[in-house]
Amino acid sequence: MRVILAETAGFCMGVSLALKRLDGLLESRPDGPICTLGPIIHNPQVLDMYARRGVRRIDGPGEAPPCATVVIRAHGVPVGVERTLADLGVQVVDATCPKVKKAQLLIERQAQRGRTLLLYGEENHPEVQGLLSYASTEALVFGEPEELEGRLDPGRDYVLAAQTTQDKEVFQRIKDYVQARVTRTVPVLETICDATRVRQEEAIAVARRVQRMVVVGGYESGNTRRLAKVVAEQGVPCVHVETAAELNPADFAGCETVGLTAGASTHDKTIEEVRALLAAL
Ligand code: SF4
Repeated sequence: MRVILAETAGFCMGVSLALKRLDGLLESRPDGPICTLGPIIHNPQVLDMYARRGVRRIDGPGEAPPCATVVIRAHGVPVGVERTLADLGVQVVDATCPKVKKAQLLIERQAQRGRTLLLYGEENHPEVQGLLSYASTEALVFGEPEELEGRLDPGRDYVLAAQTTQDKEVFQRIKDYVQARVTRTVPVLETICDATRVRQEEAIAVARRVQRMVVVGGYESGNTRRLAKVVAEQGVPCVHVETAAELNPADFAGCETVGLTAGASTHDKTIEEVRALLAAL
């Protein structure tokens, strides 16, 4: 089967940087203990690889062993967690993606000006939890503009921002929706990362040339799930897998050309395994 691989498939800048930080730490402190606060990225295969190299995952600052080095994940953490880590005296390596860091600081500056944050994103996503910690307490999180119905105070000072991996077109609709319902001008923080948009556009272009699509990446990875969604919206049958082992050859019966793309936290090795298997079908 002919396989068309999207050029942008795989690690984005933020993920590459975070893993480079962790690799550097493993070289400089081979005896550890090294911990990541939550999964450093949303990819179980990559996490397993680091676990085998001795990296331990903790889910809260209190679980950090004495003398540990704690790596902050690419999605960032709430500011209170950073303070707790500092109080504990553990060594901290901040692997927050620079674009997420920038979004945190922009939100903080607006909160200092007394503006209420309207945040387009997934409420329970770790990045969103981190962003919210930099905002004032009355911040609103929503996934669709309609969720703001009846919740906006027309006279209040708002600022609008988005989780870095959200959809730019929906965000544009949200800007119009919000501005039409409040009297003061709403500053907009352009926090959506281009890595997501570029991957989605390329995936759509590939999907239009093939009979089937495969999207590779963690099931917990928001950007991978959205990639699978935009591809499916093109009307092309699409399968989302984490590894080559999950592919079912029967899904590709009669298919001559298949498109392949991957989320921003998918390792090149996994993409290559999937590509090789598809090509062999
Ligand atoms: S998708 Fe963008 S914001 Fe998210 S980790 Fe990658 S580079 Fe950073």
